Amino acid sequence: MINDTIVALSTPRLTSALSVIRMSGEDSFEIFEKIFDKKIPEFEKRIILVGNIKDKNETVDNVVVSLFKNPYSFTGENTVEISCHGGLLIINKVLTLLISNGARQAERGEFSKKAFYNNKIDLLQAESINDLIMSKSSLASSMAMKGLKGQLTDRIDEIKAILLELLAHAEVNIDYPEYEDIEEISNEVLLPKCQILDSMISSLLKDSENGILIKDGINVALIGKPNAGKSSLLNALIEEDKAIVTDIAGTTRDVVEGSLSIDGLLFNILDTAGIRDPKDEIEAIGVNKSKEAIQKSDLELIVIDGSLSLDQQNNDLNEFINQDKPYLVVINKCDQNKTHINGIEISALNHSLNDLKNQMVKKIGIDIEDISNKSILSNSRQIGLLTQASNNIKKALEDIACYTPVDLVIISLHEALNNLNDIIGASSKEDLDNEIFSKFCIGK
Ligand code: GDP
Repeated sequence: MINDTIVALSTPRLTSALSVIRMSGEDSFEIFEKIFDKKIPEFEKRIILVGNIKDKNETVDNVVVSLFKNPYSFTGENTVEISCHGGLLIINKVLTLLISNGARQAERGEFSKKAFYNNKIDLLQAESINDLIMSKSSLASSMAMKGLKGQLTDRIDEIKAILLELLAHAEVNIDYPEYEDIEEISNEVLLPKCQILDSMISSLLKDSENGILIKDGINVALIGKPNAGKSSLLNALIEEDKAIVTDIAGTTRDVVEGSLSIDGLLFNILDTAGIRDPKDEIEAIGVNKSKEAIQKSDLELIVIDGSLSLDQQNNDLNEFINQDKPYLVVINKCDQNKTHINGIEISALNHSLNDLKNQMVKKIGIDIEDISNKSILSNSRQIGLLTQASNNIKKALEDIACYTPVDLVIISLHEALNNLNDIIGASSKEDLDNEIFSKFCIGK
């Protein structure tokens, strides 16, 4: 499968000025020549050609083609990128011609998979490509770009380098006892190194705590009594009339969502149906969905109707406060000259929301400047594996404290190395062999 020559449309399947069709694999040039009206000249790394795509005697399109010779392409294979005109008929015709001449329709992510197998990118970089395409905020895309450039892999490699040195040293002691000039590794040698490893991993985990929030966005639930102005606030925040606004309580029956970016951070706002005793089955479904949305939120905005009496405002607040989650109290309808309880005063109708937006960023507590300069992990697969690596180092430290023999301490360090390699999709065995042979010159 991995040796097949694959082809796919790389741009959206929409009528547009231009579209790009990408083909990668050993036979790419041969297949392409069968449908092109020119011979591909000799070239070294990359070349651009202009010519016609032919179906027997009929000219299908006039195209610009970029050819990349193995290994000078994204996938590391011979690659052809055809920029054709973006009509659906033309796209389908070119794809059909390439497939009937020997290419296979690519599966999802298969170009990146080939790049990974051909050692052009590691797993972290492959995931970053996807993150970059999907990113919805400037911070998320700059985070993905760091991953793509390999800066995140560098951070993992720094941790791996210390582990590899320790493990290679231990392995040499066991496998090559005749090398007497190599110091015997002991728990005294391991302890300071494991402490350094523990602090490096902890600091990457701490920095990555916010990675998922930055990538997927911060879920904010608007909660409060019907008519407090939640739908008006959603519309004002996203500057769009998405949620229906009426003074009839119970109008919002489903969870309505909208997104906005504040200081480069993506906020997904969820307007929940007012939680009240439902009057009918449809409203009951809405209320349940609201409860789910509130549960999955990272921040709650408790919207209080500031036009009500102070007692009523206080009662409403007490009903909605949930100490388990970060929340902000938002007093709406401040355009009405009433006394309000403490909170961020706004008028959803007047759209003066800068104070609220600043407070939302502050409450989430992400230091945007600090995080912009760092490479951090951003998905649960990566963070789960790093947590396992952290647990394994902590286990090694516990074992050292209990005077456990070195051979057993080493087992946890091996596990930690496997965890780190799983993050980037590398092999521990190969790494360890390289480390032993490069540093200790065994078997010269
Ligand atoms: P929800 O039920 O909490 O979603 O409340 P809505 O957004 O539907 O608003 C209920 C009513 O309050 C509507 O008539 C809105 O026009 C009105 N409303 C919302 N925000 C304000 C505000 O800031 N000032 C005033 N005066 N009325 C508002």
